[in-house]
Amino acid sequence: MSKRILILYTGGTIGMIQDPVSGILRPFDLEQILAQVPEISIFGYQLDAVAFEQPIDSSNMTPEIWIHMANIIGQHYHTHDGFVILHGSDTMAYTASALSFLLENLDKCVVLTGSQLPIGHVRTDAKENLITSIEIAAACDEHGNSRVPEVCLYFDYQLYRGNRVIKYNAEKFEAFHSPNYPPLAEAGIRIRYHSNAILPKRMGGLKVHRHMSTAVGSLKLFPGLSAMLLNQILHTPGMDVMLIEGFGAGNAPTAPWFTQTLGSFIQKGGLVVDITQCHGGSVELGKYETSAALLQMGVISGHDLTFEAAICKSMFLLGLGWKGEKFTEAFGKSLSGELSKF
Ligand code: ASP
Repeated sequence: MSKRILILYTGGTIGMIQDPVSGILRPFDLEQILAQVPEISIFGYQLDAVAFEQPIDSSNMTPEIWIHMANIIGQHYHTHDGFVILHGSDTMAYTASALSFLLENLDKCVVLTGSQLPIGHVRTDAKENLITSIEIAAACDEHGNSRVPEVCLYFDYQLYRGNRVIKYNAEKFEAFHSPNYPPLAEAGIRIRYHSNAILPKRMGGLKVHRHMSTAVGSLKLFPGLSAMLLNQILHTPGMDVMLIEGFGAGNAPTAPWFTQTLGSFIQKGGLVVDITQCHGGSVELGKYETSAALLQMGVISGHDLTFEAAICKSMFLLGLGWKGEKFTEAFGKSLSGELSKF
């Protein structure tokens, strides 16, 4: 029986067309996009499509839209073999991370892709990205199980785990990197799947989560950070989690104004997660004197989470209503492959 794939078009450059007068890129519709790649029919798959009524530039992405997307996948889960999401590249790594948490026990392939040039452009990267994403979403092993049963991102011949990627280049076709974690597959003459990097099939059936909290803030540390800024940000009303992007292995100033302000936020029930500004390696709280105080006051290690995954994981756990110890414990575990070493 032929594979049935659902394409979800959310917007992004892939489906944009240049306004002849202003030169501004604006979205056009899904049928026009698919008409650009008639070769897709050679696969013999049954392709169904759902499009946002108003396709968006992904800079306008919100947690509500992530939940809407997770619901669409949930509604089509039993009728389709795989899913391809067309999405702007700017916040694609956030959406991929969010969906990896919202779609618990996923055992089918969800591929996010997009492009740096619109699909109608002569030198577009959109066609290859779209065609190969569809092939990957439909790929299965000898038992009929999905080859890549997880949320992933395909761009420029590389398939990455969705919650391990960062957008690293605004111009190159190679727009994404996956620091600290190898690609799940690489496309050349044929698609090579790296089975040992891919999550094993998960049991228990899909569970779609429908809550994410935005009571999350972030602060990237820099030499010269003022006590006033730290104080203001930590006193933002209604904020439950503060994500600190520390130096190196998660290090931070040892000055009393810094440790005391952070410590008092934690004492009042706030949660602080420490990730690293580096793209390789991991947070190691207590390795240096400059992180020993953080460990003592109860700062949570974000290990080697990307910023995108750390934000989405915080929103997701708060959405489950988890605070205190439950939240801290969940940060020490890899829920859907977001930590490379657990
Ligand atoms: N601004 C666009 C977006 O993220 C860029 C892209 O599609 O790559 O929607």
